[in-house]
Amino acid sequence: MKFALAGNPNCGKTTLFNALTGSTAHVGNWPGVTVDRREGVYKKGKEPVSIVDLPGIYSLSPYTPEEVVSRNYLVNEQPDVIINIIDATNIERNLYLTTQILETDHPVVVALNMMDTLNKKGAKVDIKRLEKVLGVPVVPISALKIDRIDVLMETAVTAAKLGRTGKSVLDHSYLKKSVVLMTETLKDIGKNHALFHAVKLLEGDKIEIYAESLLAEIAMIKQQIPRNEDFDDDFEAIIANERYQFISDNLQDVIVFKTGIEDVKSSDKIDRILTHRIFGLPIFFGLMFLVFHVTFSSNFLFLSWFGLDQVESPGVILQTQLGEFMSAIIERISIGLQQADVALWAQGLLVDGILTGLDAVLSFLPQILMLFLFLSIMEDSGYMARAAFLMDRVLRRFGLSGKAFMPLLMGFGCSVPAMMATRTLENAKERRLAIMLMPFFSCGAKLPI
Ligand code: GDP
Ligand code: MG
Repeated sequence: MKFALAGNPNCGKTTLFNALTGSTAHVGNWPGVTVDRREGVYKKGKEPVSIVDLPGIYSLSPYTPEEVVSRNYLVNEQPDVIINIIDATNIERNLYLTTQILETDHPVVVALNMMDTLNKKGAKVDIKRLEKVLGVPVVPISALKIDRIDVLMETAVTAAKLGRTGKSVLDHSYLKKSVVLMTETLKDIGKNHALFHAVKLLEGDKIEIYAESLLAEIAMIKQQIPRNEDFDDDFEAIIANERYQFISDNLQDVIVFKTGIEDVKSSDKIDRILTHRIFGLPIFFGLMFLVFHVTFSSNFLFLSWFGLDQVESPGVILQTQLGEFMSAIIERISIGLQQADVALWAQGLLVDGILTGLDAVLSFLPQILMLFLFLSIMEDSGYMARAAFLMDRVLRRFGLSGKAFMPLLMGFGCSVPAMMATRTLENAKERRLAIMLMPFFSCGAKLPI
């Protein structure tokens, strides 16, 4: 049997994957893109099950390479079960993807992850109602604590044997009739996962390719849908809205927090300050200044301005130290080679060529590492998401979105990972633009030049 793990980024997919597959895991690439493909085998059940960890995504729309990979996998491959992992602490956002996965005809089991955190907060989850509304089994687990993972796998094995046909939240909306018609049309041409494709066609999704005659038929069905006042004929927005509406109508209170309300309030307060219309940007530039100051400044804390001895910042000190260490080593080797009477050309090659070259490259390393350390602290604490929100207004003018901001900032550390990070951007045009801008963010290695 074969199970696929699907879910939002950071919902705990990889943690669950590692807990399931242990040492059998191996990592490759999905064909044509630099998106990790992890596969392994779960051996603790009655029969071995191979497990695929799909890339983390928020939606099955065709914008990022991750979305395309996950979606192609869901419609073209034949996994026996899709295990949809949901971060229980963020259930509403996570269910948005679930509503799309449920439109495929694959058997689905929902793994409600991070139950340990939820229990700690004293939250109550109405699993029965979740199962009833979604129409698939829901298993609360903790991937981190390796809790109830065996139950999850048993449930999935049972689900695989039962089979399933797709179900859409649009069944409860005024779009139902059109979706049914389109699904029938697609079934007639023998399309797998007809419901899923029908909804994507309705969304106006660009990677759905069909014959002209069929598209004309679909267009006819679309014509008959009454115009929506709020969204006109932007079906992508209409359907997204229906999904969220369904979630908030039916599933808003499946998780009830007893305590922890305080938590939410204080984080809201912090949010209000950090994303403040007036103070937000100064706070951001202040923080950025600090980071660069600690990394690059040779006049740390501006001590010399106050008549004190000038000191270098930690970043510069590290760089100097490494430089001295490297020169000492190179000198030793050089002397050793001279004493050993090695041919002059070989000495030149080794000392002036390889070692000095290596030294030149390594000398940038301390500051790059330090900058990345700070950036990753900001990223993991969630501050970067706020900064991206702030920068969105500025970057829009250049045809970029706030999301481009993090990769651009990383360009100060090193252009290579910065360019790799542009994969989170929504479309190829924006990715290309961000990559072409990258050389203008001078990294540690460009600075001396
Ligand atoms: P992925 O992006 O979906 O692959 O998510 P990861 O597996 O990398 O997990 C993201 C973060 O959530 C990590 O810091 C994990 O340690 C944490 N995490 C995963 N599962 C659990 C869980 O069951 N409970 C708690 N408290 N944390 C978890
Ligand atoms: Mg992962």
